[in-house]
Amino acid sequence: MDEHKKAESLFSDFFDNELNGEELIWLEKHLESCEPCKNDWDKYKQAMEEVSGLMHIMAPENVVDKVESRINKRSRGKFFNKQKYFTVRYSIVSFILVLFFVLAYLLMMAVNEIVLFDSNDDNRNAVSDKNVEDSK
Ligand SMILES: [Zn+2]
Repeated sequence: MDEHKKAESLFSDFFDNELNGEELIWLEKHLESCEPCKNDWDKYKQAMEEVSGLMHIMAPENVVDKVESRINKRSRGKFFNKQKYFTVRYSIVSFILVLFFVLAYLLMMAVNEIVLFDSNDDNRNAVSDKNVEDSK
């Protein structure tokens, strides 16, 4: 393996700060002396930072914190009390579970919508007939 490929293969560990002393020193020296690898590293680092930035946007912890502190205020400290660390963690897990159930429910509804699409008019007529029956 040539040293440029070796350098590239170390990028992900380097980014995660998981390189051992020898490899770390070697890579830092190589990046200082090798313009193409330095450019590749800059691109890699930028891309990885964008990805982790995106992950942060998708799961912004501070939004959860804000929602929790708002609920905490409204419920006069009954829910999401910051001093109850485990309660807070448990609430986040519950919140995520609820989100998953809502998503699963919406997905099921969407599937039902497609399945029932053809017979939708029949169902509506059946319901309105029943309503007429009931109102008599
Ligand atoms: Zn190189």
